[in-house]
Amino acid sequence: MLVADYDIVFQEVPNETTLALNISECPHHCPGCHSSYLAESVGEKLTKEWLTALLERYPYITCVSIQGGDRYYHEVMQVVQWIKEHGFKTCWYTGFSQLPEDMSLAYMDFVKIGPYKQELGGLRSKTTNQRFYSVEHIVSGDETIRTVLHDRTELFWR
Ligand code: SF4
Repeated sequence: MLVADYDIVFQEVPNETTLALNISECPHHCPGCHSSYLAESVGEKLTKEWLTALLERYPYITCVSIQGGDRYYHEVMQVVQWIKEHGFKTCWYTGFSQLPEDMSLAYMDFVKIGPYKQELGGLRSKTTNQRFYSVEHIVSGDETIRTVLHDRTELFWR
């Protein structure tokens, strides 16, 4: 999985200071894509060592968001688990219309689902097809018994 570039952002995940990692090799090719360069195979390999160095550079961030990586979503799950275990909130922006059946949200705090449809607009458009969820993990003892998605898309319309 390759990181094309990254940024510290304040709006992609409401109320969080987020390190957003833009993953290349996006398979979706949405017409009107705001970042068409992400379809290319460009960037630096996402390794734990690389990410550790980056996180040390920005000690004030509260959340890490994987922007894409749909082609490698099994790897996304592993990276998200590692990030969560290092004390950060986690988010995944996916262009899938539905989560793959074997995609686990066990270590996810937020997820944005849906491809970009030009005629409907992105998350900041009230007509958008995309949905932003907070993920609630209902725990019993040591075990998560259920994962519930809460639609928070309206936070982007304020
Ligand atoms: S999912 Fe995002 S990055 Fe990929 S083509 Fe669609 S808008 Fe562009």
